[in-house]
Amino acid sequence: MSRLIGIDLGTTNSCVAVMDGGSSVVIPSETGARTTPSVVAFMKDGTRLVGEAARRQAVLNPARTVYSIKREMGSNTRIKIDGKSYSPPEISAMILSKLKTDAENYLGEPVTDAVITVPAYFTDSQRQATRDAGTIAGLNVVRIVNEPTAAALAYGVDKEQSQKVMVYDLGGGTFDVSVLDIQGGVIEVLATAGNNRLGGDDFDKAVADYLAEEFKRTYRLDPRKDQTAFSRLREAAEQAKIELSSVSETHVSIPFLMQKRGTPCHLDLTLTREKFDELTRPLIEATLGPVRQAMDDAKVTPAALSKVLLVGGSTRIPAVQEAVKAVTGKEPFKGINPDECVAIGASLQAGVLAGAVHGLLLLDVTPLTLGIETMGGVFSPIISRNTTIPVKKTAVYTTAANFQTSVEIKVFQGERQMTRGNKLLGNFRLNGITRAPRGVPQIEVTFEIDASGIVHVTARDQATGRAQDITITASGNLSQAEIDRAVADARAYAGEDRLRRRQAAARDAAEAVLYKAEAADRKSMSREEKKRLDEAEKRLRKALRGKDAGEMEQAAEEMKAVLQR
Ligand code: AMP
Repeated sequence: MSRLIGIDLGTTNSCVAVMDGGSSVVIPSETGARTTPSVVAFMKDGTRLVGEAARRQAVLNPARTVYSIKREMGSNTRIKIDGKSYSPPEISAMILSKLKTDAENYLGEPVTDAVITVPAYFTDSQRQATRDAGTIAGLNVVRIVNEPTAAALAYGVDKEQSQKVMVYDLGGGTFDVSVLDIQGGVIEVLATAGNNRLGGDDFDKAVADYLAEEFKRTYRLDPRKDQTAFSRLREAAEQAKIELSSVSETHVSIPFLMQKRGTPCHLDLTLTREKFDELTRPLIEATLGPVRQAMDDAKVTPAALSKVLLVGGSTRIPAVQEAVKAVTGKEPFKGINPDECVAIGASLQAGVLAGAVHGLLLLDVTPLTLGIETMGGVFSPIISRNTTIPVKKTAVYTTAANFQTSVEIKVFQGERQMTRGNKLLGNFRLNGITRAPRGVPQIEVTFEIDASGIVHVTARDQATGRAQDITITASGNLSQAEIDRAVADARAYAGEDRLRRRQAAARDAAEAVLYKAEAADRKSMSREEKKRLDEAEKRLRKALRGKDAGEMEQAAEEMKAVLQR
């Protein structure tokens, strides 16, 4: 296997790391930077820039520069440039490709596999979009890991005894806080809260606004009204902010910021940390609500937290560290570079997967997809393969026949689209469903896998609240060979399964139309109409006796047309 890399695909900056000689190493970009701005720019001549180069030209090319694409992952947003439309995974793939190339240049060998991190709150579709981005970039995404979990791995807290840990992550454009429970080698995200529109950029803006006001007071000119001047101001503000993390005052000097009647106007002033803290206090305070919320949701008091870990470049700000300390009562854990710890954790996990790292926690995942059987033997996945456990997911189903008062829930595991190719783990019956036409009852099916891989399935009729459940302990006993076979089978039989699925879907739709035909009020019809209906019904019944999906679809369409008339 080629070497696996760990990628922190961030909103503002991304970082890539790899296990080298037993320890995790951050891979520098071609310019030597340890993080890469998550920025993509499309130049007029058709070339594409990614990273620092894209960020540098952003001021002059704002309409063709894409920032913070991570916020759009999993959505239907499209980025339109030069008549071409790009999905968020395609843009993210451009960033991943650059990181892949940097890693290949550093390692001197091709890289094909990666572990990528995502925020703990990312939904299934956002995670899937991240996986797709990897695939587009030519990377096999072997595992998606939660960012706070990766940070905890980097800090090595998984090796210690059972504990609860808070991860406070303040980056360039997003803030999130998670409370993790670490027990018996399993890391579980108990709660997560945050604000995905709050980050270092807002601190820059607060400082830039102050600088602009000062400049305006002197020259009666507002640099915010001039795009170039304001972007120079923003850059100087970020620089000053970074300096104030280690010194108590800094000098801000921007020569020739603007001109007044041909005379150049320079910005020149001293900014103290005290002033910076005063300007940014509301921003820091805005992070404390989510901190309390995450503790409440996780049902932990500050005293029950063993550690607080800091992630994200903005946690270098001393006032941020003090505020976190004040609210949690804990001295935040430092020591690992906050911009790099998520990528480092991802590379550690990659090292474990590649067999290069021993004695470290391997985050448990479901080896195969779990789901239930629906009409016609179609497998309906609920928890997809490689989802980190523990996990809980719910899907809503309905009945297939009229006035059906019970349903059989058959739990399957596997990658085939039809259940007959998958493994039956167990089944149970939910009785006492309210009598109603097909499609009306709402049956909630919840799958829960605990930290030990035990699957618990519950079915509940929303109308009556009646529930039935089953516990399955067999999910962990598949060998790697069985898992590999299931995945290979799924690929080999994909075409055949698709055909069966189409048959099942066509049958289901045809039966629904037949039901409507049966229920139609024949008394109000003319002889001609009745005749047409009878003929269509005959054809539909004949198609339903056969197996031809096309015939069923066509007969159903014809019947629909007759019914509409
Ligand atoms: P991240 O998204 O984690 O890479 O964080 C990027 C943010 O961290 C940007 O807003 C940077 O300006 C900010 N940042 C980086 N270094 C420092 C520092 N020493 N002090 C304050 N903010 C910093």
